[in-house]
Amino acid sequence: MQVLVLNSGSSSIKYQLLDPDSAAVAASGLVSRIGEQVASDAPTVEHHSAGRTLEHHGAVPDHAAGLRIVFDLFARSGQDLAAAGLTAVGHRVVHGGEVFYRPTLIDDAVVRSIDELSSLAPLHNPANVTGIESARALLPDVPQVAVFDTAFFHGLPDAAKTYAIDAKVAAAHGIRRYGFHGTSHEYVSEQAARLLGRDPEDLNQIVFHLGNGASASAIRGGRAVDTSMGLTPLEGLVMGTRSGDIDPGIIPHLARTAGLDIDGIDDLLNRDSGIKGLSGVNDFRELFRLIDSGDRAARLAYQVYVHRLRRYLGAYLVELGRVDAITFTAGVGENNVRVRADALAGLERFGISVDPNRNAAKDRAARYISPDGAEVAVLVVPTNEELAIARAAARLVT
Ligand code: ADP
Repeated sequence: MQVLVLNSGSSSIKYQLLDPDSAAVAASGLVSRIGEQVASDAPTVEHHSAGRTLEHHGAVPDHAAGLRIVFDLFARSGQDLAAAGLTAVGHRVVHGGEVFYRPTLIDDAVVRSIDELSSLAPLHNPANVTGIESARALLPDVPQVAVFDTAFFHGLPDAAKTYAIDAKVAAAHGIRRYGFHGTSHEYVSEQAARLLGRDPEDLNQIVFHLGNGASASAIRGGRAVDTSMGLTPLEGLVMGTRSGDIDPGIIPHLARTAGLDIDGIDDLLNRDSGIKGLSGVNDFRELFRLIDSGDRAARLAYQVYVHRLRRYLGAYLVELGRVDAITFTAGVGENNVRVRADALAGLERFGISVDPNRNAAKDRAARYISPDGAEVAVLVVPTNEELAIARAAARLVT
């Protein structure tokens, strides 16, 4: 079986061709700078297969053109996608709203509904729709499946998903906590249960997905009971460029005093805040170079980041009562030894500790970083959203 997984962003398409059973990746790549003016020799598509990398240079006017280039690169590397007998195309879709909470076979009505949810995810859902339409046009006979980033959090308890604002206004505008990164939280919590040799239904877990975007979740018996992202992926933890939680009063204050309109404030909170807003850089490797060279702003950015992580950890420990596993995943969570150590420092009285040697080990596999016999297992589990999407799509159509 082969599933093509597409993750269409506003100016990019990430893709993988993989076997959902074995997890073997036959090809992967990235189309970037879609719709931008670029030099004719600028690399815009990178395609990896069979140990080789092929590139395309020059402008990619839209998603449809991007996918056509990808199909050509597949053909040039000896894989004809149209003739390959694909089991499915799996699409990562960011916002499923109240409508979609499980992997869904795509037809015209589904595309329309995803498009209608664009007001809740204006940067993401329109790009997802464009990716879906392009793939349907190029592969009309292959089933297309949408897998939603919000789905895992659809069943959040009312107390966790409800914002304390005028209930009529909230109902009229779909305002509730939806949560994001759900495919990753679900996959990682299942892998954590495997590593523990336990059934997910018997475990209480906290998962920290720490990448450029970052989110935390509390999971009881395999079901999410809380998560840090909300109506949009802006709420919660401090992120690469996003503020996470702020006093909502900051928004009208800025509108009145800083002369920013609502789009300016949206940009400020999404693109110029978080680690970048405080330190000038958003990549954690650069942040630590700055910290190690004595940069005070970078140090403060890191302190604010860790403070927020620990706040959510404390909240979820209390919500869950008993916690069996705390798991770190994504770029920062999988690779940053200091973040993991600092997030959990001084919590021995709660049964939480990190073994410094295990934490520092350079191991790509899912693993324990807590000492043997610790009450709470602390784990590092690589996320793999593409595999989770491929498996969900294959399960639905076979
Ligand atoms: P995205 O949300 O864009 O998918 P990622 O999960 O790739 O983000 O995470 C990006 C972050 O992970 C960056 O801050 C980067 O510094 C960090 N990161 C990625 N790889 C490493 C590494 N090998 N060592 C330290 N940090 C890393």
